[in-house]
Amino acid sequence: MEDEKIYDVAIIGGGPAGASAALYAARSSMSTAIIEQGMPGGQIATTDVIDNYPGLPDVSGPELGQMMLDHAEAAGAEIVYAMVTGLERAENGTFVIQTDGDAIFALSVIVATGAAPRTVGFVGEDTFRGRGVSYCATCDGMFYRGKNVFVVGGGNSACEEGLYLSHIAKSVTMVVRRDEFRAPKGRVDSLLARDNVSVRYSTSIAEVSGEQLISAITFTDNKTGCSVTETFPQGSVGVFVFAGTDPIVELVAPLVDRAPDGGVLTDDGMATRTPGLYCAGDMRSKRLRQVVTAVSDGAIAATSAYSYVEGLR
Ligand SMILES: Cc1cc2nc3c(=O)[nH]c(=O)nc-3n(C[C@H](O)[C@H](O)[C@H](O)COP(=O)(O)OP(=O)(O)OC[C@H]3O[C@@H](n4cnc5c(N)ncnc54)[C@H](O)[C@@H]3O)c2cc1C
Repeated sequence: MEDEKIYDVAIIGGGPAGASAALYAARSSMSTAIIEQGMPGGQIATTDVIDNYPGLPDVSGPELGQMMLDHAEAAGAEIVYAMVTGLERAENGTFVIQTDGDAIFALSVIVATGAAPRTVGFVGEDTFRGRGVSYCATCDGMFYRGKNVFVVGGGNSACEEGLYLSHIAKSVTMVVRRDEFRAPKGRVDSLLARDNVSVRYSTSIAEVSGEQLISAITFTDNKTGCSVTETFPQGSVGVFVFAGTDPIVELVAPLVDRAPDGGVLTDDGMATRTPGLYCAGDMRSKRLRQVVTAVSDGAIAATSAYSYVEGLR
């Protein structure tokens, strides 16, 4: 380790929280590495339009994600494209970050690994993932041009993505577990104003089946408990699931405390119970998982890491 570069701060995750942390850290003259395993932007790279980020109406998700990372890089952060596979704090307090490439060393670490789409557990959900079941309209919507899609979920993301899909698919049927949407009224109204969108309230998908692609879907009426199986020509239907997300916490699990919702508990400076380790963004236990709260967390975590590193000097 003696010959290795030791960064002041290493940030794991290049979504909004990580990019914001990197920007603030680099601007405070800390040597900063940001490690990202995939596309810049995290979850927003999977959505078409972000229409609630202040000052940037209608920016596309991938564009905003790229802009955030470019901004951090221009401020001096080093971007490392790698998957982090392990995180340890050595006895001398230095963090050792194992990746699928070289190990990275840092005096402090901000973990911003975000969240992953939640599965809903119908029979066939896993088997048909990528063969009719999807969690990303922007990534997979084009495969359903002129076809019929079912969108599972009644929240904000489900409505947003249902609206996006309504411009591509022949029909969009929202499958809503309760007897009402959970999304704000304005968002629901714009969705339902589309001619090709309909809703099945109090309904869940119990099973998807078929050979290579989906050709049958079993729906359950949540009020009566009755199930009905409908059949479709092979490959003519898709099921998009937007049922919330689960925080990605595996890397830090031994080093932090967790809340009952699975998210990491931090103080208001984003500090965990491990000195020098901070968590930011959707992986935290929090009330609102959005871009604005993720970037706020990232900025706060970076200023806390700065104070911690200064204290070591
Ligand atoms: C479909 C959809 C639509 C949305 N629409 C909106 C919207 O309109 N407005 C809004 O404000 N919010 C929206 N959100 C929520 C918003 O995207 C999130 O709140 C925000 O992206 C959280 O940022 P984050 O940086 O905490 O995590 P993420 O965006 O999840 O980023 C985490 C990053 O960490 C990386 N990572 C994870 N594990 C590792 C590892 N082991 N090694 C290296 N890298 C790793 C991931 O690849 C990812 O890039 C939407 C979310 C979804 C899913």
